[in-house]
Amino acid sequence: MSDKITIAIDGYSSCGKSTLARELAKSLHYVFIDSGAMYRGVTLFALRNGGIANRELNRGLLISMLDQIELKFVLNPETKSPELLLNGENVESNIRTPEIASFVSEVAAIKEVRTKLVAEQQQMGNQGGIVMDGRDIGSVVFPSAELKLFITAEIEIRVERRYQELIFRGTPTSRDDVRENLLRRDHIDSTRKESPLIQTSDAILVDNTKLSKSEQLEVAEQFVERAISTLA
Ligand code: C5P
Repeated sequence: MSDKITIAIDGYSSCGKSTLARELAKSLHYVFIDSGAMYRGVTLFALRNGGIANRELNRGLLISMLDQIELKFVLNPETKSPELLLNGENVESNIRTPEIASFVSEVAAIKEVRTKLVAEQQQMGNQGGIVMDGRDIGSVVFPSAELKLFITAEIEIRVERRYQELIFRGTPTSRDDVRENLLRRDHIDSTRKESPLIQTSDAILVDNTKLSKSEQLEVAEQFVERAISTLA
């Protein structure tokens, strides 16, 4: 029996889920999938093709265009991290902008969008050996994942991390704008009708407010060891 498990990491926006998932996948030699990148990719497509116009989401039009959207991940040979291809174009640097962040949660609340992306995510993980982070990974995408982590951190820590990330990328923003966006997305993500963000009863809560990246990784690695040892 393969000892490669499926690891689901969920939590609120900017809690460090993707950082943890990426590092964990590297250390375990697993595949890492940032499912949020896929929702961001659909949002970028909508912005470019009239599905979002004059700051309004046209749900019907976007739904009718969903079969024109092909999402794939390729490994960046330098960083060894997966990057998103939208219809063959590498859009990794286009999907992390405040504009995408301001629409993505409305796009992600559309049932048809979720049906498409969840099916693709399940396909990517059907061999195990995967770490996927998002909002519904433990609840909907991989409900039988051997390890489920639910990550939290205090809001001001999350704001500071996202603010520094945007400034590092050269994107002008303010802490107030970042805070407003995070709280708004958290609210939409956890109150939407379609697979809202929840901590499932079998998920382990990790509060990383006071943890460094390497401490957080160590904690997660211990949970992985425990999950693998119970498999045999
Ligand atoms: O993780 P990230 O912040 O990049 O996700 C962007 C948005 O995509 C989230 O705010 C949420 O609305 C949506 N999302 C989701 N389900 C997932 C991953 C992301 O609804 N599994």
